[in-house]
Amino acid sequence: MLQDQEAHAAEMERTFIAIKPDGVQRGLISEIVSRFERKGFKLVAIKIVIPSKDFAERHYHDLKERPFFNGLCDFLSSGPVLAMVWEGEGVIKYGRKLIGATDPQKSEPGTIRGDLAVVVGRNIIHGSDGPETAKDEINLWFKPEELVNYTSNAENIFHFQM
Ligand code: UDP
Ligand code: MG
Repeated sequence: MLQDQEAHAAEMERTFIAIKPDGVQRGLISEIVSRFERKGFKLVAIKIVIPSKDFAERHYHDLKERPFFNGLCDFLSSGPVLAMVWEGEGVIKYGRKLIGATDPQKSEPGTIRGDLAVVVGRNIIHGSDGPETAKDEINLWFKPEELVNYTSNAENIFHFQM
């Protein structure tokens, strides 16, 4: 049974999603978690952490040449972050859709940033931008044993195959 579940998990797509300190402080955890949950994605890991500046720099290493890098890493490490792994078919790309464009001025209404944020420096949420970054970010934020393999009772409904 456990082996079945592990094999299943190995083929399921996963992404790293984090509510940044502004989203946590504004009390938006349940609102954001609810959007992923209702869509039909499955939560397989979750924890609240205050990352160190060094950890924030590792998370955003791709952006180290950008002028906002230092401020961004200072901010990410300034308070609690809700780190999560969500699983489901197409979750990496669709997770980015749920989140909306990086700049909340350009995010569509109906998206998380479109509905709940105003400026790019306080856009409340992070989501992996592709399969490689998803893998790297999950490995950075979580130990393998923190990822929970389980079957959700709704899975056969959400992932019904015609
Ligand atoms: N960011 C910023 N100023 C910019 C662009 C990005 O402060 O001009 C911040 C913003 O919080 C963004 C994060 O840097 O979420 C990471 O940037 P990225 O381009 O990876 O955007 P994301 O993947 O978060 O949409
Ligand atoms: Mg990004």
